[in-house]
Amino acid sequence: MRRVRKGRLAGHESVMPGVSAAPGVAAGVAVVLDRATGGRSGVVPRAKRAAEAERAGEALRLAAAELEKITADLRRDGRREEADIVETGVLMAMDPILTARVESLVVESGLPADYALRAGADQTAAELAEVADATLAQRADDVRSVGRRAAAHAQGTAREATEGVLVATSLGPADVAQWAPKAKGIALAAGGITAHAAIVARSLGLPMVIGVGPDLLQIADGEEVVVDGDRGVVVRRPDPERIALARNDAGRRRAAREIAIARRLEPAQTKDGRTIRVLANASTHAELREAAQQGAEGIGLLRSELLFLEAAAWPGFDEQVGVLRPVLSHLGGRAATVRLFDFGGDKTPPFLRDTTARGVEILLDAPGALRSQLAAIMAAGADAEMRILVPMVTGAGQLQAVRRALDAVLDGRRRPQLGAMIETPEAALDANAIAKHADFLSIGTNDLTQLVLGLDREQSKTAPVTDVRVLRLIDATARAARSAGILVDVCGEAASDPKAMPILVGLGIDELSVAAARVGQVRQWVRELDFADCRRRSDELLGQSGHASRQRV
Ligand code: PEP
Ligand code: MG
Repeated sequence: MRRVRKGRLAGHESVMPGVSAAPGVAAGVAVVLDRATGGRSGVVPRAKRAAEAERAGEALRLAAAELEKITADLRRDGRREEADIVETGVLMAMDPILTARVESLVVESGLPADYALRAGADQTAAELAEVADATLAQRADDVRSVGRRAAAHAQGTAREATEGVLVATSLGPADVAQWAPKAKGIALAAGGITAHAAIVARSLGLPMVIGVGPDLLQIADGEEVVVDGDRGVVVRRPDPERIALARNDAGRRRAAREIAIARRLEPAQTKDGRTIRVLANASTHAELREAAQQGAEGIGLLRSELLFLEAAAWPGFDEQVGVLRPVLSHLGGRAATVRLFDFGGDKTPPFLRDTTARGVEILLDAPGALRSQLAAIMAAGADAEMRILVPMVTGAGQLQAVRRALDAVLDGRRRPQLGAMIETPEAALDANAIAKHADFLSIGTNDLTQLVLGLDREQSKTAPVTDVRVLRLIDATARAARSAGILVDVCGEAASDPKAMPILVGLGIDELSVAAARVGQVRQWVRELDFADCRRRSDELLGQSGHASRQRV
């Protein structure tokens, strides 16, 4: 998630900053699903209110029927879980409380049908967003999307999916199912990076920018725009050069995906025979499905905190099992690496608002929550090759404390592997001691690079992981893992960066864990590498002799 500085204007282009929610760049005509101000305004005369309320009711029935059709289509395509999610929209559209609320807004307050439908859905969404249950809170976007769909029927502006860049305030799962197959990219005025739309966008490899603000809705339907999900901006009146770059990017991603799927069963092995395990950074079933299609050998990083960013209290055992099981149950015996909550920084839920701590430090201060999360992971991932990853470790003592908590909840079950994220300079410098207490290490190059070089992770547009100060720490970590006889993985963005990845392989990294949409590409890059060349290149960068490199792996 990256934020770009506000208010930049380049030439006659207008660059609107937001937050990057899915990588890639796309150009296309805007398909605007929400208007800044839509429909008829003004108060409906009393004599016409009953008929207007009837129109609003009919619009809700039409929306429900449409959602039922989308549900049936998804089921026919074997997309059962998405069908279940969209089906809840049918229930929302037929919810008597929403119907009564809309009717009262028309009859009592004289709002036109489309306004009342949006306002009624917004009120219900606001109530949902306040409840303690994070899963229910996430349904707030879905109910807004039901209101918008019904309002479009009331306004007579409901439309078939067309190709282009989707522009909306937020998107619910039904919108995504209906529009994603034709979408080139997505730009949202609001939205969260963990919302259903963002997850689907990442898994499909659709560039997406969220949080652009209400100005986004000034974009006219049919206007040419560029969504740059790498830099987190939406560009109006893009230069021809920018459009050409975006088109190349889209074509390249499409072709790479097709090749990746065709070659998914081939091993990710360098030309001179070094095998690298390529895993996926995935927190949802949609991401996992895309990753598996592209040949992922399991999950290398499930960011559990992303599933509970809106939580009003520590998530309970049942709630966590409910969210994790649908993902982990699809893994069979493959690797399932679940990271403990990495709350803090830009991932702080409301109930931890006042904390200045981060990751494992917060968990060790809340032993009940730690035990409950460990127990939930064990319960949800019974059949997989379970690996539990501890975030933001700064010393071996923290890992030992988590291991004691894990032992206390094992209850006779097979012990999962326990790994440490190496993403702070302290951890990298103490990697030998940490490795002695770990079953594997996973290097978080995103935080490590930022902390070592003193960059602002949310503002910085570059992540120079190949800076020698960062590489030395990665090298030290890889060596520590080897002397302890354990595997070392990289799960930060560097693992799928074409410049950094060969260097990481040269340093002896065993596993790369990358975004679902990039799994196939990374597997292909590995096949094109020569391990000996990678080692030479990483040695050069570290300023080491050939002798040291022979000792390395
Ligand atoms: C990292 O820091 O590289 C990492 C993988 O963790 P996150 O991006 O979730 O902070
Ligand atoms: Mg991190």
